[in-house]
Amino acid sequence: MHNGEVSWWWQARGLPTRRPSLPGGTQADVCIVGAGYTGLWTAYYLKRADPGLRIVVLEEAFAGFGASGRNGGWVTAALPGSRSRYAAHPQGRRGVRELEGQLRETVDEVARVCRDEGIDAGLVKGGTLTVATSAAQDARLRRRLAQDRAWGDEEDTVRYLDKTELTRRLQVTAAVGALYSPHCARVQPADLAAGLAGVVTRSGVLLYEATPVTSISAGRARTPAGDVQAPFVLRCTEGFTAAMPGQRRTLLPMNSSMIITGPLGDAAWKSIGWDGFETLGDEAHAYIYAQRTTDGRIALGGRGIPYRFGSGLDHDGAIAAATVAQLGRILRRMFPVAAEAGIDHAWSGVLGVPRDWCATVMMDPRTGLGWAGGYSGHGVAAANLAGRTLADLVRGIPSPLTTLPWVGHRSPRWEPEPARWAGVRGLYALYRTADRLESAGRSPRTSLLARAGDLISGIAHLPRAAGSLDVQ
Ligand SMILES: Cc1cc2nc3c(=O)[nH]c(=O)nc-3n(C[C@H](O)[C@H](O)[C@H](O)COP(=O)(O)OP(=O)(O)OC[C@H]3O[C@@H](n4cnc5c(N)ncnc54)[C@H](O)[C@@H]3O)c2cc1C
Repeated sequence: MHNGEVSWWWQARGLPTRRPSLPGGTQADVCIVGAGYTGLWTAYYLKRADPGLRIVVLEEAFAGFGASGRNGGWVTAALPGSRSRYAAHPQGRRGVRELEGQLRETVDEVARVCRDEGIDAGLVKGGTLTVATSAAQDARLRRRLAQDRAWGDEEDTVRYLDKTELTRRLQVTAAVGALYSPHCARVQPADLAAGLAGVVTRSGVLLYEATPVTSISAGRARTPAGDVQAPFVLRCTEGFTAAMPGQRRTLLPMNSSMIITGPLGDAAWKSIGWDGFETLGDEAHAYIYAQRTTDGRIALGGRGIPYRFGSGLDHDGAIAAATVAQLGRILRRMFPVAAEAGIDHAWSGVLGVPRDWCATVMMDPRTGLGWAGGYSGHGVAAANLAGRTLADLVRGIPSPLTTLPWVGHRSPRWEPEPARWAGVRGLYALYRTADRLESAGRSPRTSLLARAGDLISGIAHLPRAAGSLDVQ
């Protein structure tokens, strides 16, 4: 079994040949720091809107090296954060609904760009299933559905599937029901990142790899090779942001870990089903997410070791044997026939979590400094919407995107260490214990534990769609 090496997604397509580094100091109209989805989509839409712009993207490793080349491949319309928190914006609930509507359209926008630009990322819009595998999980699903209805989501956005309806789509051991939403697509994440980077560079954007930015200030991004001077400098470094000077407590670098099986045989797929390629999650407190890949594997992710002391980052993506074993147990419990395919590869990545779990798209017109991120595990589609929004903000064009409630949103800073480390570790310990008790049919006590976890995290626990521990 391979462990780390960035991700299986990258190993499957082959790690890329590095593009040149920044040769020396230069000037640009826009300088983007970080070549993940956020940076690349921003460059894409800026260049399309104004082909004459000189856009420089500076990337520490290579395009798609971060979470964008390691994720679960859910192009999901799920809100990156809590409805009630976004509703504190002057636009209130209307703004939240507008943001949710834009995210739903974004799933189709990503598919459209892939089609129009010839990016073959295995995108299939099969929707998403959240299964309940215990009575307690099922009760949470139903409460979540009621909450969604109260916010105005109709059957065409989310609906409950009983066990019979679920089984027609896929067989998950012990599943008692599920929520289904059509607003999600499955993708091969590294193919999307690599394809997008190719489109962007062919359009004339200058993408420099192996070029770490050591500091950002108004009009300037500093690198060891020289400075890029630009009236707009955009920080698109999500889970890596804590390593930038002055940003240690802005976004918590949360780890997420994945495993992928070998290809399953025809008989196994016949027994599982999953012909619709829905993305699949469960309703546990310490949540898992999965997809059926184009070549017939199951990729499954979950938390593992959630956070390293002092916002430490693990660039290689290697994960602990205990995490592989833990994810393997969940996989075999859900899909016993998957055991025969073994586990080919395991890896992890970092995503950015703000203290209130709500994402931000920010542009200060005075300084020309902007940033987007903090998608809390829902960044694949959100980064596209954020990129389009940053492009409008840079160009100073008021649009329906520039008034969305995440624009200019300010999250509190994280606590200093060791409180940050103890809090995140404690939170997951509580949720895991709650999950164990629920599996054993002792759910009444779990709500107390889960609520203690909520107090630590500062997130509303129910409904999960409104921003509790729905983090990939
Ligand atoms: C394992 C895992 C599973 C996930 N699953 C999903 C999912 O299924 N669906 C979903 O919606 N979201 C998911 N996410 C979250 C999602 O992948 C991210 O939110 C999203 O990819 C963030 O994109 P980004 O461009 O903002 O950041 P990144 O992709 O992390 O890109 C940031 C880039 O900045 C570069 N960089 C950092 N510091 C510097 C510097 N100083 N100088 C220059 N460059 C720098 C990095 O090398 C990196 O390439 C997952 C995340 C992980 C880790």
